[in-house]
Amino acid sequence: MSVERTLSIIKPDAVAANRIGAIIGRLEDAGLRVVGQRMVQLTREQAEAFYVVHRERPFYQDLVAFMTSGPVVVQVLEGEHAIERNREVMGATDPAKAEPGTIRADFASNIEENAVHGSDSTETAEQEIAFFFAGGGICTRTR
Ligand code: ATP
Ligand code: MG
Repeated sequence: MSVERTLSIIKPDAVAANRIGAIIGRLEDAGLRVVGQRMVQLTREQAEAFYVVHRERPFYQDLVAFMTSGPVVVQVLEGEHAIERNREVMGATDPAKAEPGTIRADFASNIEENAVHGSDSTETAEQEIAFFFAGGGICTRTR
């Protein structure tokens, strides 16, 4: 048994396209359970801090502009190998390269507006969950 938690974000493009429910459905069908969730309008400072690892990349300012262009849904997912499982269901960063049936293949527009974010390691999952949920809001699934 390796029950993990990971941070998932439904990005502004997918929220605008009214795909919140469809995306959560894919995650739930993959065996992941939502244990914390809320809608947030990120500030520029928050988006810059969240994606600070990419600050030297040419797309950084565009990415920050995109992530603040509308509200996002931030959520904590729990399940067996949740970090890897979520990344599998998301598909590749570039939707043109994502496996058929993945969230990005079906809901993303392009490599930037790619519908979802998911933590990529146990370390980033811990940091990213703390980034949004340090003040609480995660529930234990008692049933
Ligand atoms: P995420 O971190 O959002 O889950 P990822 O881990 O698949 O995505 P990263 O390489 O961490 O991909 O890139 C972070 C985000 O930056 C991407 O999801 C995408 O929105 C944007 N991005 C990545 N590469 C590019 C690019 N070449 N041009 C424009 N935007 C990009
Ligand atoms: Mg990433």
